[in-house]
Order: sequence, then C-alpha cells, then structure tokens
Amino acid sequence: MSESPEHNATGIDYSDREHFTYQGPILDFHAHVMVTRPGDPPSGPPLGEGPGASTDQAASMLEIGHAFGVYKTVTMCPLNDVDSLRERFGEQLVFNAMIHRNKPDTPEDEILRNLDQFLERGVKLIKFWSAPRGRDRGLLVDTPWRIEAAKRARAAGIRLIMVHVGDPDFWFRTMYADSAKYGTKADQYVGFRRMMEMFPDMIWIGAHMGGDSEHPDHLQALLEAYPHLYLDTSATKWQIREVSPRRLALRELMLRFPDRFLFGTDLVTRHHLVPEHYTSRYWCQRTLWESIWEGPSPIADSDYQPEPGQPATPVLRGLGLPQETLEQIYFRNAERLLNLPVI
Ligand SMILES: [Zn+2]
Repeated sequence: MSESPEHNATGIDYSDREHFTYQGPILDFHAHVMVTRPGDPPSGPPLGEGPGASTDQAASMLEIGHAFGVYKTVTMCPLNDVDSLRERFGEQLVFNAMIHRNKPDTPEDEILRNLDQFLERGVKLIKFWSAPRGRDRGLLVDTPWRIEAAKRARAAGIRLIMVHVGDPDFWFRTMYADSAKYGTKADQYVGFRRMMEMFPDMIWIGAHMGGDSEHPDHLQALLEAYPHLYLDTSATKWQIREVSPRRLALRELMLRFPDRFLFGTDLVTRHHLVPEHYTSRYWCQRTLWESIWEGPSPIADSDYQPEPGQPATPVLRGLGLPQETLEQIYFRNAERLLNLPVI
C-alpha cells in the first residue's frame, strides 16, 4: 500500500480547474527558485556548491507556473545561483537578497559584503528572515547589522524590504512555548514596527500574510498604521488552514486594502521533488483567493489540530475575490512596486 503524498493527500485531480475565475497574468512575489544538486537534503537549505548543479527543477516549477498564468517570479536564492538562473530564465525571474547570518559568529563585514555582491547583481529587494527560531543566531529584524544593511540597500536604490516576522499561532503553543527564549507572538512585531518607523521611505512586505492570518484585526491595524506596508499571500498550507475559517474577515480586509496584497507561493525548488508538488501550491493558492471552491485541502498539514467536532483534515474554503481585486493582488501591485523610481 502506498501512502498518499504530501502534495496530494486527497487524491485530487489538479487538472480540474473549472472553478478558476481569473484569466489574466500572475506574478509570484515570494518563492525560492534555486540551483539544486543530487546531494541536497530533502528539506532544509540546499548545499549551494558541489557536483551535479542543475536548473531543471527551476525549469519544471516555472513551466508549471506558466500553466497557472505565472509569468514572473521573485526568488530568494544563494548569491552563487543568480548568474546561472538569470542566464537560463532571463526576465522571468526577479531576485530578492536574503540578508542573513548562517552562524551566530558570522562577522558583520561578511554579511554586508554579501549584500554588496547581491546589489552588484541587480537585486530588486532584500529580505530579513526573522522567525523566532533564528533568535539564537541574532536574526532579530531590528538588530544593528540589519539596520546598516537597510541603509546600505537604500543608498544603492533598493526600495523594497521583505520581512518574515511571525509564525503560526500553533507554533507559539508548541515549538516556541518557551517564551523566555523565543518571545511571544506579539513580541515579534515590536522590532518590525520599529523598522517601519525608522525607514518610512522604504516599502515593507510582511511575508506570509504578515505572519498573522490568524488575526485579521491585527493585520488591519498594521495596514492602517503603516501605509508603506504590504502583505504577501505565501505559505500555502498555513494560509489554507488559517484563512479558510476566517474567510469573510480576510475577504473584507483584502477588499478594503486591495492595493496592499501580493500573490506569493513560497514554493522552493528541491532536487527530488515531483512536478505535482509545484502544481499543488499554485492550484491551492489560486483556488483560495479567486474561487468559492470548498473541500478538504489536498495538501497534508501536520500543523492542523482539529478541535472537537471539526473535520480531521483542514478544509480549504475559497474567498471568491472579485476580478479587479484579483488583478491588483495577482500582478498590478507587484508591477508597481518593482518599477518604483529610485529615490
Ligand atoms: Zn519563503
């Protein structure tokens, strides 16, 4: 007996797309299109060097994306991948530089040198990954070397900074239960607010629905307080799980701020993935935002904990956003941001 795969837990036919309502172009603002190698771990960061380097997974993902209308993808990848990806995929890719510290003792000079090299390669945005599990590496969003990186990027003409700030509420009850070590969920936003206040002339993009699709009222407060804040829709499993039960509140929020959301998948190329993995995320993202489809989510989700009386697996419930809102979220907002004049 074979177990059902993670990307298709319900045995759905992903070629069934009759419920899609949108015909136009889509820009994926949040993905990780990278060079892969046979020795890469099945999950976790790729080796980034060594034999067997391949852009075939990237080609497979982008080709599947085309079938869903995705004409351009903003990718985070290692510095060394930029040239070969650009050579093969040209204008289909836009690059987002992760400003990161892999080890707690990586010197600040090295981080900033890495940023400079990304800037030389023409990245359009930078990303501060600040999940609580990075705290022991000092990956706070408003740590001094990130403030310095933001200043340096701005001086080089960068206008956009993406931030991963929150994580699912469920994780704060489980892996982050030690709040002395990780902070509470609310604590994560203190530094983020500080950065948005310190750099009001930059556009800030809160990855994964600002990390808080569990609380539409919090997202609304952030969008109201910070007119230069945008949210991307990525992290498909998380959004299916938490947006579906709050679809009316989130639909209202997106209709209220239609110019502040960006379509994203958070797809990651991996050497051994089957094409249907990529299909599952594009299919679910589109189903969630544009259709009124309802049914068991086809993606397996170990973070789903049913309350008594709830179904055993998460249910996907589409928001059925109107066409003009979809156009904004699917590509117009993204094109506007990517073409902002340099200040
Ligand atoms: Zn991501």
